[in-house]
Amino acid sequence: MKQTFNILVVLMLCLPIFVSAQNDEPVKAEKQVCGTEFTPAMEARLLQNIATAKRMNLSNESRTTTYVKMKFHLLANNDGTGRISKSKIFEALCRLNQNYADQNIVFYLAGMYDMNNTVVNTHSNVSAAQFQMSIRKNQHNDAINVFVCNSISTSSGSPGITLGYYSPTYDILVMRANQMNSTSATLTHEAGHFFSLPHPFNGWEGTDYHANFSASNPPPASVGGNLVELADGSNCSTAGDYFCDTEADYNLGFGWTTCNYNNGAVDPTGALVDPDETLYMGYFSDVCQNKFSTDQKGAIAADLTHFSRNYVKGTPNSTVQITTAANLTAPGNNATTQFFDEVYLNWDDMPNATQYYIEINRSPQFTSQLMIDEVLVTNSNYVVTNLTANTDYYWRVKAFNEVSACNSFSTASKFTTSSFPVSTKEALAITTISLRPNVTEKGQFVNLNVQTESKIDATIRIVNVNGQVMKNIENVTFQAGTHIHQIETAGLAPGVYIVNMQTVNGQINERLLITN
Ligand SMILES: [Zn+2]
Repeated sequence: MKQTFNILVVLMLCLPIFVSAQNDEPVKAEKQVCGTEFTPAMEARLLQNIATAKRMNLSNESRTTTYVKMKFHLLANNDGTGRISKSKIFEALCRLNQNYADQNIVFYLAGMYDMNNTVVNTHSNVSAAQFQMSIRKNQHNDAINVFVCNSISTSSGSPGITLGYYSPTYDILVMRANQMNSTSATLTHEAGHFFSLPHPFNGWEGTDYHANFSASNPPPASVGGNLVELADGSNCSTAGDYFCDTEADYNLGFGWTTCNYNNGAVDPTGALVDPDETLYMGYFSDVCQNKFSTDQKGAIAADLTHFSRNYVKGTPNSTVQITTAANLTAPGNNATTQFFDEVYLNWDDMPNATQYYIEINRSPQFTSQLMIDEVLVTNSNYVVTNLTANTDYYWRVKAFNEVSACNSFSTASKFTTSSFPVSTKEALAITTISLRPNVTEKGQFVNLNVQTESKIDATIRIVNVNGQVMKNIENVTFQAGTHIHQIETAGLAPGVYIVNMQTVNGQINERLLITN
């Protein structure tokens, strides 16, 4: 008994290593696959859905809108590195909605959540990764949960790079991060699996037609435990993907690079096979794909009527799509900020917006490598505190609500941080400090009002926006209580200045504007 247990443990430890070793074989690396396994349970659901669609006549396209909740879990390694940008989630969700729009299905954004777990992010141990995702899914059991990982694989091994998969065991979608964008149809395909759809080449997964068969050596009547669908469709309801409006396909898109397959595959009777390259559920290139068949749509609609799918349906707080880009108001474009470590970003409130997504980047192209900060906020302002002095930054804002993933970003705006840190009143035991007036005419006096709990010895400097010290007043003493120190501005040209007060405990800055 003990020996059996030990062998089992060794097998379990070995399995993921086998899987990753297979995926790393360079000869197969260029081929990209879906990791969804069409289990007997999924097949039973599909057949039930096909029957329901027929009975309820669900294949027509005049359906009322169904709102489907979707939650995204953005994986990073344990140390927080390797996470996808949220803007990619918006892109992928937008594309998903475009591809399901003709079915009146709206996938709405019910949340984006960070998850730091190297095993899940890399799928280095598939069963351990799936167990961790199942725990997370149980905490969010009111939506389709999509886990976005840096790399994925499945326990069955894979003949290529796995781009995504649906787990029928946990009812979750798992996506490779590089598939989350505006051009990939992988999320559309995996969502199809969620709604019970098989590949049009059902049974041929893992089988390369042209490596095994040819016109002189046609395939047998069944492959992969499924009846092979004949080119004339005569056995369509019992073979292949069980749909009669999808052409016979024998995994012919696997490695095929154009949208017109003409490589001579024949069916078991020797008849030429002409697969449909445009189906989202197939393996032809993303650029070829643009549809679900009518009967596939019927099965999706039937799946959504089933009680087991109630948990992913809901009503968004707003169904009004936001189609206007946000208008940034401060700092102005090309402005220099008052402080470098506390920058106030402001933009106009947007009607119907429930959240704003902000990106702050070193590059005007907003590349992920140079991203400084990306945050979601509910108000139309944000304070950035993790910037460095004398540096250029670019920022942009996307206003959205649950149904507005497609809304565009604002025009990007640039600011440069100053060399001044924010005031450190607490360290200086200063209760209040102010400059009166803080807008003054050239040559006038301004009053530095300081209320302090204990005596302070300070040096006061007036510095211009380029960091040059224009005035230096040493040995200024403020006794405990309220005191005013008068500063002369004679000789200072109109412009923006910082009045900088330094003590042994720290420094404090106030902004001064001198006008003509
Ligand atoms: Zn698939």
